[in-house]
Amino acid sequence: MIGISVLGATGSIGISTLDVVGRHPERLRVVALAARRDAEGMAALCRRHRPVYAAMADKGAASRLRELLSGVPSPPEVLAGPESLETLATLPEADFVMAAIVGAAGLMPTLAAARAGKRLLLANKEALVVAGEILMRTVAQSGAVLLPIDSEHNAIFQCLPADYGRGLDALGVECILLTASGGPFRDTPLGELPAVTPEQACAHPNWDMGRKISVDSATMMNKGLELIEACWLFATTPDRIRVLIHPQSVIHSLVQYVDGSVLAQLGNPDMRTPIAHALAWPERMVAGVAPLDLIDVARLDFEAPGSDRYPCLGLASRAAAEGGTAPAILNAANEVAVAAFLERRIPFTSIAEVVARVLDGLPSEPMTGEGVAQVLEVDRRARALAEQNLGVSVG
Ligand code: NAD
Ligand code: MG
Repeated sequence: MIGISVLGATGSIGISTLDVVGRHPERLRVVALAARRDAEGMAALCRRHRPVYAAMADKGAASRLRELLSGVPSPPEVLAGPESLETLATLPEADFVMAAIVGAAGLMPTLAAARAGKRLLLANKEALVVAGEILMRTVAQSGAVLLPIDSEHNAIFQCLPADYGRGLDALGVECILLTASGGPFRDTPLGELPAVTPEQACAHPNWDMGRKISVDSATMMNKGLELIEACWLFATTPDRIRVLIHPQSVIHSLVQYVDGSVLAQLGNPDMRTPIAHALAWPERMVAGVAPLDLIDVARLDFEAPGSDRYPCLGLASRAAAEGGTAPAILNAANEVAVAAFLERRIPFTSIAEVVARVLDGLPSEPMTGEGVAQVLEVDRRARALAEQNLGVSVG
């Protein structure tokens, strides 16, 4: 029996993970669930999956969860506060950890799981963007197994040989082709973009996701973060990765080899496929996903992303090329700007403006090797500068 701890259990990836796990009770057992403040959602998950531990980052939500579970037979032990997530990431009973917290908030528990040598199912791409060097080094030292959940990276992983750690050159890989849907505003006239609403931005044409990643998909910052994520996961550089708009979201990414071969992974856009892949790897397990009907799909289209429509992609490429602390600065500014857009404090097109100002205002520094303290300090400074720039962009 394999024990799994799900961090970010109440979110889109968390729910999909529990759906797949629930299909394999003979093989997988939920030992812990963690989330931020949705006590009602967490209580329902606890009743259904019977974890041994539950944690809420928000202490008030933890108290509420204890109340909600008071009548339940053998309720989970409820832990409270952000540090409790690190406890759940390192439990001896948890063989696997699903890292599905959104944003840099997921960094510390994700790092803790890596340090503890777990099989780390990584959905929390921001952890790699802000601290890729530290996370990859930790995984190498502890012997943790890092499996990508992001559909593109999971697809690339499936299209590479098992010894991909040798580096792309040794494998005869020419480049990685990272596909993107183009988001809900792919065909919206550019002049209408300043007036689009959070509801429109979160209505993704192909994927049902959390609000932050939905906005990132609309700006294509998501693809920029994924470019940085791919550089760390596959030990390569941004010049070896090409972004391709593929509106149907059926090909999840491709690997082009020097002999002209191009390998792709296809499937219906449903995150339960990469989740099941990482849970069962190197075997396969049923995910509950409908089989792909290629006659129904009928056609696969591709186009180049325009820099006028997706300025965030260019900003992320710039941060990727600069390296050092630039990706952490980019991520922090983006988290602040996206939250402000979702709260209707800034227009959609100001997200890229705020990120650009913060990247200009805080020069990248090399990683000092002193560990996570440097990253947390840069994250704090970039958030403060982004907050200052929100007012500028509205006025
Ligand atoms: P979501 O908003 O639906 O869920 C986020 C989860 O994180 C919730 O359980 C929430 O309680 C928890 N959380 C948020 N802030 C927290 C904090 N400060 N402390 C502790 N817990 C916190 O997000 P999602 O769409 O499930 O995305 C999760 C991660 O997976 C993101 O990094 C995203 O980029 C990545 N991802 C998502 C998808 C998708 O289809 N949803 C696809 C690829 C990658
Ligand atoms: Mg993705």
